[in-house]
Amino acid sequence: MLLFYTCYRHSIFVCGMLLTLVLYAMLLTAHGMAPPRFVLSPEMGGIKHASGFSLRKVSDVLAGRKYAVLTFDDGPYGQGLDEQILATLQKHHAHAVFFLVCSHINDATRGELAKFESAGDLIGNHTFDHPDLAKLGQPEIRQQIESCNQRIADVTGKRPTYFRPPFGSTTRAVGEVAKSLGMQQMLWNANSEDSWVKHPEQIRDFSLSQTEDQSVLLMHEKPMTAAVLDDILTQLEQRGFQFVLPDQLSDNVAIN
Ligand SMILES: [Zn+2]
Repeated sequence: MLLFYTCYRHSIFVCGMLLTLVLYAMLLTAHGMAPPRFVLSPEMGGIKHASGFSLRKVSDVLAGRKYAVLTFDDGPYGQGLDEQILATLQKHHAHAVFFLVCSHINDATRGELAKFESAGDLIGNHTFDHPDLAKLGQPEIRQQIESCNQRIADVTGKRPTYFRPPFGSTTRAVGEVAKSLGMQQMLWNANSEDSWVKHPEQIRDFSLSQTEDQSVLLMHEKPMTAAVLDDILTQLEQRGFQFVLPDQLSDNVAIN
């Protein structure tokens, strides 16, 4: 009210000064606040601030801060690639969700799961052996998701809570099975296109052009992607991005 009164009664200059002070105070206040929390938006098209509109969100806009969730599908890869990706993430103080294909977890790769967890990253379920779930009946869908949960729990002691259908191919039945298992689907709204492009520069360029504030970026555990990850993260940081994880399932969803 004071601001409106001042703008009404006094010059543009005084009004501008006061507005600047108010914005600066908001930035300072928000700086000392707890870090922002994010959840997956219901449409699965990205993440959103858990608290909705907030002083923090206003200050993020003013400061040009943006947030994205990094995701890597189809691992664990083994042969040092998982470590290479983790090292690049660590260099950027970034965390990611690794959606694992459980048939890839074997004696040679099971040790990678502890590395993801100790780095503070999340392990997600990408089915047991990567079928197109839209072509399967409900019992097979359940089998694909649940056997992968069990394989991951056998190794880590914890069932994952995020699930991503292979190829992003989901149906109402897939959604219902995932929900009945206490899981949340995470699709994506930014795509590195690393499942088909032939050159690492294309992966970088797609990632940079598609990632917007509160995006979920799809990447795969592949050598070409790992090779340009440092460059992608560096350039996104220059645009104000921080890389965050969404909160895991809310309390009202039962996990057994
Ligand atoms: Zn996949």
